[in-house]
Amino acid sequence: MTATVIDGKAFAATVRGKVAEHVTRLKEVHGITPGLAVVLVGEDPASQVYVRSKGKMTVEVGMNSFEHKLEANTSEQELLNLIEKLNNDPAVHGILVQLPLPDHLDSDLVINSIDPAKDVDGFHISNVGLLGTGQKSMVPCTPLGCLMMLRDHHGSLSGLNAVVVGRSNIVGKPMAQLLLGDSCTVTIAHSRTKDLPDVVRQADIVVAAVGRPQMIPGDWIKPGATVIDVGINRIEKPEGGNRLVGDVEYDSCAAVAGAITPVPGGVGPMTIACLLANTVTACCRANGLSEPEGLAA
Ligand code: NDP
Repeated sequence: MTATVIDGKAFAATVRGKVAEHVTRLKEVHGITPGLAVVLVGEDPASQVYVRSKGKMTVEVGMNSFEHKLEANTSEQELLNLIEKLNNDPAVHGILVQLPLPDHLDSDLVINSIDPAKDVDGFHISNVGLLGTGQKSMVPCTPLGCLMMLRDHHGSLSGLNAVVVGRSNIVGKPMAQLLLGDSCTVTIAHSRTKDLPDVVRQADIVVAAVGRPQMIPGDWIKPGATVIDVGINRIEKPEGGNRLVGDVEYDSCAAVAGAITPVPGGVGPMTIACLLANTVTACCRANGLSEPEGLAA
């Protein structure tokens, strides 16, 4: 079998198109422009790239982008003061604090100071609790993107066996909650899981969010399963330079799976698209308006 390639780049463009349509309607009918504030502390090069591309795409879909770049030695109180200001700013519907923060800042404290209604990353403890209890919440962008691709590919996920490899608060745990919400039978595997290959072999859906290059080979994959590869790992090429690979061994998995997301071009582009979708959703909720269909969990 050769797997269908789930084209995250194209899917993300469709999601951004829907977001842009909704933004146009919000502006023309209601006179509201959704706004996303991104806060970057310090000069981590990867974070700078992410923040730049988030800002660019925010503007491309017609929303306001507010970038706040703070010095690496910014005090916790200064950062909390800025978040308080953004919480109270009616032009700001979404707030994202780019992680990781410098070591002297308490990430949990900072994230939990964001108004949960503006927490477009879905990391605030209130949103984690709402998601866990099946209530309306802001959903973390990467797992939301994975869920959208899975729903698009499968239609209903009800009754499917899903194995999520990785239990981080950012990807693994919320992904498992979302799959449970769609009535999958869910297993969360991690570094202490026994007989991991056999656990993965049971899965109709495998979500790999480990951060280990090409860790999952094709002979762990049940024939016909859907493989969602969240991993982004940079490895050296034999001829010099480097390239991006996922957490699954793409060629051997694609030979067995029914469908697979590539790296790059799979989950990655969906993450920013879902951030924009979450911002529109937050804006609609803040203004008591109906939410765009198909852009939330
Ligand atoms: P974390 O490092 O926070 O979590 C990794 C998880 O993998 C942990 O739960 C860990 O288990 C588990 N793990 C590690 N080694 C093994 C192993 N040998 N067998 C089984 N499980 C193992 O990573 P993240 O969740 O933040 O990210 C995972 C990957 O996804 C990374 O490559 C990251 O770059 C990528 N990513 C991609 C995004 C995108 O937009 N596409 C967004 C976010 C992340 P334990 O808890 O026991 O230590």
